[in-house]
Amino acid sequence: MADKDRFSADVAFAKVLDAEDVLGPYRESFHIPSGPNGLACAYFAGNSLGLQPKRVLERVNQELYDWATLGVDGHFRGEIPWFSYHEVFRETGARLVGAKPGEVVLMNSLSVNLHLMMVSFYRPTRERYKIVIEDPCFPSDIYAVKTQLAHHGYEAGDALVIVSPRAGEHTLREADLEELLEREGDSVALVLLGGVNFVTGQLLDMQRIAVACRAKGCMVGFDLAHAAGNVPLSLHDWDVDFACWCNYKYLNSGPGAVAGCFVHERHGANSDLPRFGGWWGNDPATRFKMQLIPEFSPRAGAEGWQISNPPILALAPVKVSYDLFDEVGMDKLRAKSLELTGYLEFLVDEIGSDGVEIITPRDPAARGCQLSLKIKGGAQALAKKMQGDGVVCDVREPDVVRVAPVPLYNSFCDVWRFAESLRRHVGGE
Ligand SMILES: *Cc1c(COP(=O)(O)O)cnc(C)c1O
Repeated sequence: MADKDRFSADVAFAKVLDAEDVLGPYRESFHIPSGPNGLACAYFAGNSLGLQPKRVLERVNQELYDWATLGVDGHFRGEIPWFSYHEVFRETGARLVGAKPGEVVLMNSLSVNLHLMMVSFYRPTRERYKIVIEDPCFPSDIYAVKTQLAHHGYEAGDALVIVSPRAGEHTLREADLEELLEREGDSVALVLLGGVNFVTGQLLDMQRIAVACRAKGCMVGFDLAHAAGNVPLSLHDWDVDFACWCNYKYLNSGPGAVAGCFVHERHGANSDLPRFGGWWGNDPATRFKMQLIPEFSPRAGAEGWQISNPPILALAPVKVSYDLFDEVGMDKLRAKSLELTGYLEFLVDEIGSDGVEIITPRDPAARGCQLSLKIKGGAQALAKKMQGDGVVCDVREPDVVRVAPVPLYNSFCDVWRFAESLRRHVGGE
């Protein structure tokens, strides 16, 4: 059914959708910041910093308590022993991104993990040395790629290939990437793209891209900062070489949270792959033999890329969040997400302002929950006015407002509030 027939702009309709929403009660599991009038704001910045699950306090307190009462014994006798803390994510982490247990590890932060993955999976040769990225590319990713190229002695002008949207378009076409690989794939060592683009909200067909890369013998990695916890993923079956994501956006694990990393099992099993080692990536059987066994012997799987022992206080919120995602499941989240974002799109179209253009793909299969609105006359000023109405969304300069209705805690009434505020400040027909 067309959205026009499915939805109504009446607030009573939003209330009906909320009443019917099976995930509605999960909103209560989160702290929602207040707007200027002291009431809960309509929070659409979960793509930047997700909200805090209420149970985080208890989990962090438990780690503090274990530390206070057990000291070093907390490594083995804590409620969740710190020695093997990262292993509690084996199953939930794998289910979240469509991996096999052992293909996912939580460690470091996203940009650090991109570097560690490039150490292993960007192995340039004389013939094959280029890296393909997309435009617009997140600054940290482009800095990571450029400094990796320089580290290996390459000039970005020669070795960095950027795929861009066609003139007059906002988003990439997979066919253009395929054509590029057809043309110069033999010189490409690595393709590194955002699974969901941070500016446009476009969800790429990662499976199709992985097939094209494989056909040309290129490694393929994805930055899933805006995809993990937002859209269903099948990283193992898609045969992706590696992927990295942060846990503070859709995954609600707190500012600077420990990040996630996927390494396909066919690489995880290869202990000869070059990598930067540290004791936590070593086989746990010999990890504490310390100076007695000075040879690094990486454990199999993604865990073999760990370097240091993990920051337990920073992992505790991730545990709470991953348990929550596992309980709900990405299928249910995606089902509600399609409704929420479809409703948002419907309401924005209803306003019909020619100062507002949706640049996110119209096809629900080609986007996650975020809609990006190109605003005539300045996005910053608009976002500020909306903030005054208790509506929180963020801006990507110069002219894009990003709106992310997230299915775990946003309601249909939140979306209605957004549209009402937008209507007031941009006017309509
Ligand atoms: C949020 C984000 C990052 C952030 O990197 P950190 O290392 O976590 O600071 C990097 N890349 C993309 C695409 C992002 O969206």
